[in-house]
Amino acid sequence: MPVGPGADAHQDDPVDLRIQRGRVTEVGQGLPTYAAEQVIEAGGRWAIPGLWDAHTHPAMWALTRRRIDLIGAGGPQETVTRVRKHLDGIPAGDGLVLGYGYRSGDWSSQPTVAELDAVTGARPVALASGDGHNGWLNSAALALLGLPSRAGALAEEEWYAAYTRLEAHDPDSVDPIEALRVALDAAHAKGVVGIVDFEFGSSFDSWGERVARGLDTMRVRASVYPERLEEFAALGLRTGDVLVPGHELVTMGSLKVISDGSLNTLTAWCCQPYVGGEHLEHPHGRPNYPPDELVRIMRRAKEIGLTAAIHAIGDRAVSATLDAFEASGQSGAMEHAQLIAWEDVPRLAAAGITASVQPSQTWDDRDVSQRWWGDRTERLFAFRAMADAGVPLAMGSDAPVSPLDPWLTLAGAVHRSADEREPWHPEQSLTIEEALGASTDGQGTLGVGSRGDVVLLDADPLQEFDDTGEQAAHLLAMPVAATVVAGRVVHSTL
Ligand SMILES: [Zn+2]
Repeated sequence: MPVGPGADAHQDDPVDLRIQRGRVTEVGQGLPTYAAEQVIEAGGRWAIPGLWDAHTHPAMWALTRRRIDLIGAGGPQETVTRVRKHLDGIPAGDGLVLGYGYRSGDWSSQPTVAELDAVTGARPVALASGDGHNGWLNSAALALLGLPSRAGALAEEEWYAAYTRLEAHDPDSVDPIEALRVALDAAHAKGVVGIVDFEFGSSFDSWGERVARGLDTMRVRASVYPERLEEFAALGLRTGDVLVPGHELVTMGSLKVISDGSLNTLTAWCCQPYVGGEHLEHPHGRPNYPPDELVRIMRRAKEIGLTAAIHAIGDRAVSATLDAFEASGQSGAMEHAQLIAWEDVPRLAAAGITASVQPSQTWDDRDVSQRWWGDRTERLFAFRAMADAGVPLAMGSDAPVSPLDPWLTLAGAVHRSADEREPWHPEQSLTIEEALGASTDGQGTLGVGSRGDVVLLDADPLQEFDDTGEQAAHLLAMPVAATVVAGRVVHSTL
C-alpha cells in the first residue's frame, strides 16, 4: 500500500508502506508494486497507527446513537423541545420513540408527563436519563406498557422494570445488528480499528453471530463479568485467544469487575465523604464487592488464564483495587482510575497496571466533580502524574457515556475545557504525542512488523499550537481520509 508523494515541509519525505497478510512488511521510498496488490495513493497524507477505544459498550452505544439526543438539556422545556424537533424529522407513525441522556439532578423543575404529552400527542415516547437511573414516559408509552397514568418520571426499580419491557417494543433493541453496523462504520470513519467491549452481561459470546452477519471489520477484545466467569471457564479459553473461529480480529480480553459506583449517582467509593453529602445513605459511596470477594474473583480469573479490568472511580476504590491486584497477583487494567490518592500513583506504576482512562470526561464531569469533590479534583483525571510515574495509559470513551470518537478523547487529554473557561487543572494534561501514543493499543508507530492497521489523515495530528484550545479544535476537526484494518480498507474517502 504505497503512500504516495506530496510532502509537507516539516515532515520527512513521504514513504510507501506495504501490508501483507495483515502486517506491515516494508516501509521505504519508491517500493515496487506487485501484481494483484491493491494500491492506495495517499497523496502525501499523514499515516498513523489505527486508533483504539479501550473502553466501550458497543451495542448500548449503537442504540443510543439512534435515540433522541438529550445530553446537556438544561431543563424539561429544552428536553421536550428536542423531542418535538426529533419527531418533526422522522416519518409519522405510532411506533415507540426513545430518547436518552437528560440529567434532571440539577434542574430547577422536575419532568412531568403532561409536559411531554403536550409535544408528542399520541405517539409513545420514552426518555432515559443519562445516568440510567430514571425514565420519563409520556401517557402513550405508559399505556403501551399497561402502566397507570402518573404525574412524573419513574425511578430506580420501577424504571428498570419498565426499561426492559420498553426494549421489547424497540426493533433496534430486539436486533441491534443494523444499528451496530452503522455505529462501527462511523467509528472506522474516525480512524478506529479496535475496541475493548465491556458490554454489560459479558461480550465473549456476542461476536460469533455478528461476524457471521457481516460485522467483521473491527478488532474487538471481548470481556466477561463475574456472574458468567464459570461459564466462560468451561470454554477453556484464555486472554488473547480467538473467540470466533477463523476470524482473528475478535479475541478474548479480560474479566471485567465494577468494583464501585459512579460519581453521577454519588456511589463512587471515596476516602472522604462527598461535599455536602451527609444526607446520603453512603456519604463515602461504597464498594460493590467486599475486598476478599474481589480478590477471590480476580484469583479465579488468573487461574483460568484471564487478565483483569477493574472499574474503580473513587480514591478508596482505586486503593482497594490496587490491594486486590497485589493480593491476587493479577495483571491488566484499572478502568477509569478517576480520583486517585497521590501515594497510589507510584503503586499503580510499580504494579504495571494500565490506567484505562476517558479524557473526554474532563469536559463532561467538570462541574459535577467540582460540586461533589471540591479540592480533591486536583487528584482527578491525573493523567500527567500517572504518565510521569510510568503508568501505562490506554485511552477510551466509555461510549455511550461519551461518544465513541477518539478525536474527542485526544482533545480532552490535551485541553481540559469544553467551553471558553480556562482549562481545568491544566497541569494534568498530556501532550498530543502522549495521548496519541496511548490510543494505539501499544503500537506506538508504524514500522516493519507492526499491525497492518493504518489511518490516513488530511492534516498533521501532531501539529503544535501555543494554545491548547486551538489544538483541541484542530483535533476535533481532523479529516480521516482512510482507515485500514489488517490490510483491508474499511473506510475511504479517497
Ligand atoms: Zn463502562
